[in-house]
Amino acid sequence: MADRCTQFGNTFLGLPKENRPKTSKQASEYITLPSAVTCQAIRDIKGKPKARRFKKLWPGFNNQNFRIESAGGACWKASFPTLEKRVGVPIEVSQYQVKHLNALLNGEAKQGTAYLIKRGKEWYLHLSLTLTVEKNSQGKTMGIDLGLTDIAVADIEGKTLFFPGGQAAYTRRHYASLRRRLQKKQAHRALRKLGNRESRWISDQNHKISRRIIAFAQANNASTIRMEDLTGIRLTSKQRKKQRRDKGRSLHSWAFYQLQQFIEYKAILAGIKVEYVNRDKTSLVCSSCGTERSRPSGRWYVCGHCGSRKHIDANAAANIAKAISGLAA
Ligand SMILES: [Zn+2]
Repeated sequence: MADRCTQFGNTFLGLPKENRPKTSKQASEYITLPSAVTCQAIRDIKGKPKARRFKKLWPGFNNQNFRIESAGGACWKASFPTLEKRVGVPIEVSQYQVKHLNALLNGEAKQGTAYLIKRGKEWYLHLSLTLTVEKNSQGKTMGIDLGLTDIAVADIEGKTLFFPGGQAAYTRRHYASLRRRLQKKQAHRALRKLGNRESRWISDQNHKISRRIIAFAQANNASTIRMEDLTGIRLTSKQRKKQRRDKGRSLHSWAFYQLQQFIEYKAILAGIKVEYVNRDKTSLVCSSCGTERSRPSGRWYVCGHCGSRKHIDANAAANIAKAISGLAA
């Protein structure tokens, strides 16, 4: 069904615009698929007006053609049409997913389109849900500073949570040396596999960190989370070239971007608003009295004006919470 769906997508793109099928009946001239799958495929193709060719067009099912139900205990079942008949397939779900699936069965979540997808040798179902969350509007503001020494430091009115980067840095070095060795042997396949393993490891870490940050935010009644706008970093062409050459670096900035994305979606699910701030003065100003100095020395920010002494990343996180350089556009 997945192969036929892809084939249909490419046949569709190959037809002159006026001859492209608009209904599953017109499409049946080109392909045999369940009509629900054809209709969704036409919607998906139209949703990608720039597509020239599909490497894969996965079969999709709208909420009328896809059902998910509890089969008792930890067992869940998904049913959808296939080429022969409608099937009910047992599926493996995680604890995190059970929470959302229960919301779906209770009518607290709205079901979106489901896609049948193959990754490696296994088949997955990607199901989108629309959830209504109750927004916390009367809470405090938390700032999060992302950095090299400490991956993340969160500050909420002087209470701080640190995520030291030691372990992550170690693993990065380990992978970097492994990669150098493999590069010498020109083991391309092994190298690609290593890349996947490393990025999965980073994703896993980012999930753990973001989960703990949101738990910390909720425990301290945060209604807003502020982070630095990383997209605003302007690189010179020389810096860009270096970053392209130095894979570790670009992997690193990708990891931070991903961490922000994870924090953002988990925050939204928890009813916490997310805002991005400009980064110009974040680490140069004393978060206690607002006095600016040119450069903090070492790991501690000691204010010559008010005498306050803070870890530089915690000072930065407090400044991010106050958005001292303004909210990002
Ligand atoms: Zn001060």
